[in-house]
Amino acid sequence: MSDREGLLEDIVAAALTLHASDIHFDPVDGLVEVLFRVHGSLLPAVRVMDIESRVTRAVVQRLKVLGKLALGDQRRAQDGHIRMQTFAGICDLRVAVVPTVTGERAVARLVGVGHSAVTLSELGMHGDVLAEVRQVIALRSGLILVAGRVGAGKSTTMRSLLKERSDAGESVLTIEDPVELMIPAYRQMAVDDKQGWTFAECLRAALRQDPDCLMVGEIRDEETAQIAVRAGLTGHLIVTSVHASTPEQAVMRLVEFGNRPSFVRQAVALVIWQRLVRTVCPDCRGAGCDGCRGTGSAGRFAQFRVLSGRVIDLLLADPDSPPRLETYHDTPSLALTKKE
Ligand SMILES: [Zn+2]
Repeated sequence: MSDREGLLEDIVAAALTLHASDIHFDPVDGLVEVLFRVHGSLLPAVRVMDIESRVTRAVVQRLKVLGKLALGDQRRAQDGHIRMQTFAGICDLRVAVVPTVTGERAVARLVGVGHSAVTLSELGMHGDVLAEVRQVIALRSGLILVAGRVGAGKSTTMRSLLKERSDAGESVLTIEDPVELMIPAYRQMAVDDKQGWTFAECLRAALRQDPDCLMVGEIRDEETAQIAVRAGLTGHLIVTSVHASTPEQAVMRLVEFGNRPSFVRQAVALVIWQRLVRTVCPDCRGAGCDGCRGTGSAGRFAQFRVLSGRVIDLLLADPDSPPRLETYHDTPSLALTKKE
């Protein structure tokens, strides 16, 4: 147990070194247990770092101070943002605290390391997929749907897409809930539902700001879906994400949100569906060893599947018997390494 100075920085630096996605601070027996989410598995700090895995509550208090949260208020959920300099590099953290019966619990998500977006090829897109995506991101109008389940890395892909435009000096406006990562090259708007500043309201306002490219964090309601489709038809390039377990479902979500199929067909330029696939550690074949820190996995791969305009046409022409994706040679499915 410890509350020494610099402990939080050491924990964050360890998380960076481990390529952890999140740090958990669990209240147990009056102390706080530190765990890291690495390649999807939750590991107690004691197994992966040299420092103590049970620390005092001072660490959570320090997180709250740095995240500009109300320190005295331990009875409600709060969230904030921290940019931290550690010996392992600069890191952006999204911090969320919540009261539990054993005390305040906190999770810090590592949202940006070095705070720059990775390129599409660093993301793992190559060959035909990369060529097709590059062609579409250069368009003046239309909708690019990044689809997948929760945690599939959709935000990372959207940032890589926008990077193509912002690197060219164009005006990129984003609407996010919340803004996970501050990127100087973008003009970022944060949704605030409580103030009536919804995705739909932000999008209406953003369209009047003459952007070259717009990013809408997620389409999850009818109003936003309809404004986005209309905007895509009227000379705006919009990159957005939808929750979908298949690429076909991503297209159909827009119809379910009340858009006419013919509009969706004209507006959607490309669907990029993705998922993360675990790879088994080659040394222990999944049993767990020192090399993989007992996780049995050697990391995760991103798998992309792209639906072009022609397939979207076929899909919407007959949604009851959707085309089998594998039969279309222009929509290769590639399993590629994702940089974590
Ligand atoms: Zn192993």
